[in-house]
Amino acid sequence: MSETIRVLFLDRDGTINEDAGSYITSREQFRLIERAGEAVALARDAGFRIVVVTNQAGIARGITTIEEVEDLNRYLNELLSGWNTAYDRCYYCPSHPDYPNPLYDRFNACRKPETGMVERAIGDFLADGFVVDRSASFFIGDKMVDVECGLRSGLRPVLVRTGHNEERLCLERGILPEYVADDLYRAVTGHILV
Ligand SMILES: [Mg+2]
Repeated sequence: MSETIRVLFLDRDGTINEDAGSYITSREQFRLIERAGEAVALARDAGFRIVVVTNQAGIARGITTIEEVEDLNRYLNELLSGWNTAYDRCYYCPSHPDYPNPLYDRFNACRKPETGMVERAIGDFLADGFVVDRSASFFIGDKMVDVECGLRSGLRPVLVRTGHNEERLCLERGILPEYVADDLYRAVTGHILV
């Protein structure tokens, strides 16, 4: 008998942690956005599983390494432990179509707005006996690709105005989130947990 769960899919850079405008490669550059830890704790305590879904094409471009990305993903959970919380799963996509690399090209279907990481997460939950209720699950991010990935995956997309804040671009292209919030905390408290 499988259990149905709700998931909060979260972009990483610009949504949970501050996006400095270029690739983040060290713990010194990695800082949580104000109240982001609290937001994750509130959502998880309300029953949401937390899944981080992040494009990390800096790997294919040679700007950062798998080791650095994985270290920062671990560091994120170390920081979240300060709020007695954590993410449940984390997926990153190393590839970029403009930077072909035989090591990473097979991951091209994972790069947001493609839905490979979301589908993999849902499949991994299913293997553990959990069915994700997409219509009750959200995708929160700061870029249009996050909104588009959420829409394509049948999730409820929410845009945050932190990071790159692509609210205007989304409007221009007609890739519309169901809600726009100033930041992750306000997305969770103003829309998701209401
Ligand atoms: Mg982002």
